[in-house]
Amino acid sequence: MPEYRQNPLTGQAVIVSAERSARPHHFDIDAGDSGIGEKKLGCPFCEGNEHLTPGEIAAIRESGTIADQAGWRVRVIPNKYPAVCDYSEIPTFLEFHQYFNSCGLSIPLKLSDRSAPAFGEHEVLVDTPRHVVSVSEMTSEETVNMFRMYRMRLLSLYSCGRWVYVQIFKNVGVAAGASIPHSHSQLIAIPFVPLSNLEEIRRAAEFRDRKGGECYWCNLLRNEIKNTSRVVEETDSFVAICPFASRFASEVEIYPKHHEAFLDSFDDEVKLREFSDLVRRTVYRLERVVFWIKGKLAYNFVFHVEPFVHDFGSDLFHWRLSILPSLARAAGFEWGTGLHINPIPPETAAEKLREQVIDKTD
Ligand SMILES: [Zn+2]
Ligand SMILES: [Zn+2]
Repeated sequence: MPEYRQNPLTGQAVIVSAERSARPHHFDIDAGDSGIGEKKLGCPFCEGNEHLTPGEIAAIRESGTIADQAGWRVRVIPNKYPAVCDYSEIPTFLEFHQYFNSCGLSIPLKLSDRSAPAFGEHEVLVDTPRHVVSVSEMTSEETVNMFRMYRMRLLSLYSCGRWVYVQIFKNVGVAAGASIPHSHSQLIAIPFVPLSNLEEIRRAAEFRDRKGGECYWCNLLRNEIKNTSRVVEETDSFVAICPFASRFASEVEIYPKHHEAFLDSFDDEVKLREFSDLVRRTVYRLERVVFWIKGKLAYNFVFHVEPFVHDFGSDLFHWRLSILPSLARAAGFEWGTGLHINPIPPETAAEKLREQVIDKTD
């Protein structure tokens, strides 16, 4: 059974999950068969292959179509090889607290905590029924549906009352940790806020209290937009920037320009499409600029939204999407210190990304 274990000295938690080691790797199987967007025989995420996956949790479907059959646009299924374990015998958040306390754990994890069963939810969001690999190969409509489903799953998981932190992420390419090439996202919902995320919120709260209630990120964005050197692209409601202290070469963050702790913009069709198209263009720019390994850029999406804890007051957080190109592996120095060495200044990266001509049509 997967376990949360904590280093009592640093407070950093890990998930020990032997179940993950059974994952299949589909990259070799797929080599050399039909073209982009066409159905692949052994791909569990292609439309028509629904029988190869567990039953769906949620989907955006054409009307009149039936669960676990063709006709879907985005399909959410449990991860077959979850990093966390089934929570079904612990139905409410209060019982979670009691259960964790009975294991000698508390939420969030405290210094004295050692380990507990890794209760959580691990879902796969199949972004599109078509066999495409990168977001840049998806249509505008497909990307809109993908982000719409992100919001639907977040609302559902936070409202069920068990989870306080939901991480949505996407791994594209082997170098970025993907084991199946067909474009998909994942989420893992857990019952505590990881230490580094908690520290970020704590510092943002300190800033707000010092600055008479101003949001840290609103302040940051105002300065970035005025300065322009790290701005990749600005639209009516969103801005893509290379962060000042980028850990990775050509790292990009996309923010709503006006304060938003949760994904309220996604409830507005115009803004949702504006955001989706900005993300597609940004990935497209990265794929043109960044040195490709074997012809394809590998990258991760990391979605940051407000955790479901309000120890510092609600509406403190300002959501963002990080796009992290996988160009170099973290190595000895990074593991030893947590300090990443980034060979491309974000100002140079932003300039190169800005210069790209977007000649892509839908
Ligand atoms: Zn596929
Ligand atoms: Zn803000």
